[in-house]
Amino acid sequence: TLPPFDYAPLPYTGPSPEEVLALRKQHVSPGIFHYYKKPVMIVEGKGQYLFDETGRRYLDGFGGIVTVSVGHCHPEVVAAANLQNETINHTTTIYLHPNIALYAQELAAKMPGDLKVCYFVNSGSEANDLAMLMARAYTGNYDAIALRNAYHGGSPSAMALTSHHTWKFNVPHSHGVQHARMPDTYRGPFGKDDPDAGRKYAADIEELIRFGSSGKIAAFIAESIQGVGGTVVFPDGYLKHAYAHARAAGGLCIADEVQAGFGRTGTHFWGFETQGVIPDIVTMAKGIGNGCPLAAVVTTPEIAQTLATRIHFNTFGGNPVSMAQGRAVLKVIEKEGLQANSLAIGTRLTDGFRRLAEKHSLIGEVRGLGLMLGIELVKDRITKEPAREECAEVFERCKDLGLLIGKGGLWGNVLRIKPPMCITAADADFMLEVIDEALASA
Ligand code: PMP
Repeated sequence: TLPPFDYAPLPYTGPSPEEVLALRKQHVSPGIFHYYKKPVMIVEGKGQYLFDETGRRYLDGFGGIVTVSVGHCHPEVVAAANLQNETINHTTTIYLHPNIALYAQELAAKMPGDLKVCYFVNSGSEANDLAMLMARAYTGNYDAIALRNAYHGGSPSAMALTSHHTWKFNVPHSHGVQHARMPDTYRGPFGKDDPDAGRKYAADIEELIRFGSSGKIAAFIAESIQGVGGTVVFPDGYLKHAYAHARAAGGLCIADEVQAGFGRTGTHFWGFETQGVIPDIVTMAKGIGNGCPLAAVVTTPEIAQTLATRIHFNTFGGNPVSMAQGRAVLKVIEKEGLQANSLAIGTRLTDGFRRLAEKHSLIGEVRGLGLMLGIELVKDRITKEPAREECAEVFERCKDLGLLIGKGGLWGNVLRIKPPMCITAADADFMLEVIDEALASA
């Protein structure tokens, strides 16, 4: 059973899920997919919990796709946004407002090296678009390298970086981007037992630059842990070697921290720090704003200067409300020790999932860092045949038992566990209990 939680959700009086579904079918973009056979309707959220229209409580094991970093409707975040909404909620950056400068200063203070200049945009896709524009403007090169199985967004130039057929349309979409081999020690040729796997996977980048590009590149971009692709953690040293190859070809190194940033890995504030590298450009979204449309690109003053030669501007980026919310999120992460909590609860969950792997042969691999975890399900541990249908069953069963999690990976056979960073040990134990039962019935 779910740990006790002293909160009564507000009575819900809106349209029924069936009515909402009918309206959506008629009026909302048909590309939107629903996660469950019978869609779940969520009408309220508090901390790590979600409530449906009947008042039923669920543990949120996915945090709104890794977005609700500090918990739903965190009182300090809500108060900061409300206060700003009541004072002035929009100015555009043509006027001065203190929030943008104060937040940029606070965000820059979290960055290593010379990463001190922030651009604010509204989504992860937009951040990656802008990062690519910067890299091309700065280097004067066009070709770029991303990784297979990457997800960097759905806008045209971010979609070019994304590399999985599910997320790409059959339109001209390469935009000079080539995709190097994904450094996956579970399925790739170099496994966890190979201490040199990082260097060996990165060698593909050098080959791709030599044989697939003009020899000069604008950028190499990678998530620090592949998120949508199924929580793929790179072998030690991978990014160091990858960055060296990219820089040798004149390219900038871009870290997409949209999922792995803001303390989620537990050991470090930024995902790239777990690989001991310092990028030239960092993109971030999702957890940065705990649910408001806020994203950022952070770079060095020298690289930022390239965009100063023209007017580069967007209407909503840096608006006072998202800046206020971003500031509150940073404060809460620090004040409540959420990075340390990610490490503690992430370790408890990982140990628990590994114990489940001894019992359930469906589990092929448990991986991840902190509260960015994945469980890859396979029909057979030797052939590693993806257990796609079984994964869907486990996923549905978890929902029936009161736990909402994510799904992903190359074949949709990876359970993704990325809850708000405020979850407790009791929540983790509940999650383990539910996943155990769901695996037993798959
Ligand atoms: N980068 C990564 C790593 C992501 O996971 C996502 C979204 N899933 C994006 C970029 C795109 O972000 P958005 O959906 O906000 O455009």
